[in-house]
Amino acid sequence: MDNKKLAGLLFPDIDKTPADWEAAFPARDLPAEAKVTRMGPSPTGFMHLGNLYGAFVDERLAHQSGGTFFLRIEDTDDKRKVEGATELIIRSLNFFGVSFDEGAGIEEDTGDYGPYYQSRRAEIYQTFVKDMIQKGQAYPCFLTSEEISEIRAGQEAEKLTPGIYGKYAAHRDLTMEDIKARIDAGQEYVIRLRSTGTENSGKTFTVTDAIRGELTMPENFQDVVILKSNGIPTYHFAHVIDDHLMRTTHVVRGEEWLPSLPIHVELFETLGLPLPVYCHTAQLMKIDETTGVKRKLSKRHDPELSLDFYREKGYHPASVREYLLTVLNSNFEEWRIENPEADIDEFAFTTEKMSNSGALFDLNKLNDVCKDVLLRIPAEELASFLTDWAKEFRPDLTALIDADPAFLAKVLNVGRDQAKPRKDLVYAQQIFEFIRFYFDEYFEYEDEAPENIPAEDLPAIIESYMATYDHSDTQEEWFNKVREMAVEKGYAAKPKDYKKHPEDYKGHVGHVSTVIRIALTGRSNSPDIWEIQQILGEETVRARMQKYIDSL
Ligand code: GLU
Repeated sequence: MDNKKLAGLLFPDIDKTPADWEAAFPARDLPAEAKVTRMGPSPTGFMHLGNLYGAFVDERLAHQSGGTFFLRIEDTDDKRKVEGATELIIRSLNFFGVSFDEGAGIEEDTGDYGPYYQSRRAEIYQTFVKDMIQKGQAYPCFLTSEEISEIRAGQEAEKLTPGIYGKYAAHRDLTMEDIKARIDAGQEYVIRLRSTGTENSGKTFTVTDAIRGELTMPENFQDVVILKSNGIPTYHFAHVIDDHLMRTTHVVRGEEWLPSLPIHVELFETLGLPLPVYCHTAQLMKIDETTGVKRKLSKRHDPELSLDFYREKGYHPASVREYLLTVLNSNFEEWRIENPEADIDEFAFTTEKMSNSGALFDLNKLNDVCKDVLLRIPAEELASFLTDWAKEFRPDLTALIDADPAFLAKVLNVGRDQAKPRKDLVYAQQIFEFIRFYFDEYFEYEDEAPENIPAEDLPAIIESYMATYDHSDTQEEWFNKVREMAVEKGYAAKPKDYKKHPEDYKGHVGHVSTVIRIALTGRSNSPDIWEIQQILGEETVRARMQKYIDSL
């Protein structure tokens, strides 16, 4: 077979050589330790937690080492393409503080290693495939999908490894005339790698995965498709060519790609290109609520897999970042205890500290992390985050917030400036639910007064409370008055007195203040009453008390 002639026949329009592309995309001008990473999402319009998790690893590796993190859109599968997906990818990662230095952009691409859309790189891929044909490393295969199904069915019946390899690679050695005749007859074909491996040869290769350490696997023996009939490459081939020419040093991708690693290693070797460092991340897992068993997060069952979930609920990006780091690096939590105020980017992230056996995702844990993270964010900053969130997801609240922006910050600050600050705030939706009683428009009675308080005492308590109420009282003066009033009405001054002699009292001071609390907030649980009153102002306090009496 005259391979040169065959290459000319299959790729008459390709006049470049691999060397031309090597020259067009020279090694990057970066210090030796700088890492170049990339995210290669398919533009499906769905961004999930796994994307963010991976992007976060990419971003940390690149930016911690003074390297580059770029975005490449893997749009070789037309069927899954969604309009506006690139914008969605960029915006949703930006929201979580992950930004690209280079690559596909919203308006235009940036960087010298493009195009950054695989669909625009056909000429590049075909140049390398043409070269492989010339060297006898690849060949056209005209097997139809029916023929391939038949081969597979036969292999299954005989319990053999499925695929096109060895004697099943029926078109490995077609003659030039045969190939020509088939092309002239309009038969479709793909290009396959002519693998040098054989099944069960016992030959293995070893690579060092930055997360998993040394991996030893059997060599590839499948004649995998590298170029589809439309001239667009498969993932395998595009990965090898792109990551080489874009000078990626570290390939961070999900562990679902591990089984394909032998193919990629053979392709790199065949092309004579150096291997990047692979970092295969663990699957995101969760404990199933009903079965209690650890399982993969699923798009259908777990809304928390979608990144939209966090934006819609109003999780602060800093808390999601903080939480992801606890999942990503086993030593992060310890670091945080030692460095409670430090900027998260000061933490030295390493692939070695990543789990390789399934990263456990737990919403409750995320919520706990949120409580701590939000405490570190100044109330004014939190107020402006909530304002932005409300504009998008709760427009009904914006007029209220805008009417007095300082009010929201004051409300958010309640219970924070104390030795043991309250940890009430988790995410925007929950926060508005939590603080809604501060706004007359959203105020509601949610709880009942304590059962041991006789009905006729309810208005009496509020009336006495109002009679001595002085808005300028200190917290201590205020509480002393409440206690005196409680005692006057037959309630114990201290809960423990009531516990000892319940027959002597109707209840204790706590029951009485619960009545006031309900009148004020509609709830039997809330931050400090005095503090809330100071924020609401005297007029509102009096109006709420009257409203409660009227409601009885
Ligand atoms: N397009 C691939 C995916 O969506 C990218 C895998 C990789 O990062 O190499 O999974």
